Amino acid sequence: MSRFEVISADSNGSGRIANFDSGRHRFTTPVFMPVGTRGMVRLFPADHLEAIGFEVMLANTYHLMLRPGAELVHELGGLHRFMGWNGAILTDSGGFQVMSLGATFTEDGARFRNVYDGSWVELTPEGAVQAQEALGSDIAMVLDVCTNLPAERSALERALSLTTAWSMRARAAKTRDDQAQFGIVQGGTERDLRQISLEAVLEIGFDGYAIGGLAVGEERGLTLDTVAYCVERLPLDRPRYLMGVGDPWTVAHAIGLGVDMFDCVAPTRLARHGVALTSTGRISVRRLSYRRESASLDERCECPTCVRYPMSFLCHLAHVDPQSLGTLLTVHNLSFMAALVRRARSALEHSTYEIFLKEIDLIWS
Ligand SMILES: [Zn+2]
Repeated sequence: MSRFEVISADSNGSGRIANFDSGRHRFTTPVFMPVGTRGMVRLFPADHLEAIGFEVMLANTYHLMLRPGAELVHELGGLHRFMGWNGAILTDSGGFQVMSLGATFTEDGARFRNVYDGSWVELTPEGAVQAQEALGSDIAMVLDVCTNLPAERSALERALSLTTAWSMRARAAKTRDDQAQFGIVQGGTERDLRQISLEAVLEIGFDGYAIGGLAVGEERGLTLDTVAYCVERLPLDRPRYLMGVGDPWTVAHAIGLGVDMFDCVAPTRLARHGVALTSTGRISVRRLSYRRESASLDERCECPTCVRYPMSFLCHLAHVDPQSLGTLLTVHNLSFMAALVRRARSALEHSTYEIFLKEIDLIWS
């Protein structure tokens, strides 16, 4: 059985610091989880993640169940062994990927084309549980139906009712005691739909609760309002996970509202496109004005990239070897996200969260 223990709470707000223990691996929250889509953060070995201090990462069930196959990973000793990762792993259910790939949804499940060979694949709520249990992650997500925003209310309602029905089936299909299972609150930015979804997932009862269906096209003030509405209605003694959000401003504000976990591909994807997240904002390293810059990328950053290389070298790589630059900027951007969360934890501990948010607003709002 997993354990979640709040060890410190903001005396002026709702943010908190906690430990999550799956029984096999543990990590401290608030936490940002890097995304290893196919088992590895692109261009980035697992020991680099450990060196930055990451304790938990995300892997995509959708990709791993298609290639190499969840059962094969199980036979090979499970996902931790397969990925060479000593920390905790959260697997998503595949719901977001199948939405992105234009799946059709029926009462029974989702039907989509295998991205690798074009064959038809059915993914049911029970199938998503079985795949994640075979993979052996620490935290499994229920299969949900996510909707891009803006969306017709009828589309949101249908996504919500399917997600609720599938959540019940997923809970019933669970067999592993050493894997936590998180439910997902859907409903777009409509409060009454969120309320219906909250009541349904809380009634079923999960080891943790995710807020899904946000950062899919809506204005980020609205993202935050919806997060606040949901968090106020979630139990204090369970982890809260805001799915797919990694923009520094939203992460910092959501931590202040009491969100514990985040994941997003943006920091690593931006890195591969030559864009750095820094203490002065976003920087595109390609700009020719950096060709003669002898200072580091970010003076406030102590990551190996900033300690070792001048900006001029990063700019040079951007023009001649963007893949190598991608690795160096992945080091930096993930270090930036880890440092952001560390600063947030420190501000929570010292009851200075308001001051921290003002600093964030100056750069990122
Ligand atoms: Zn750096």
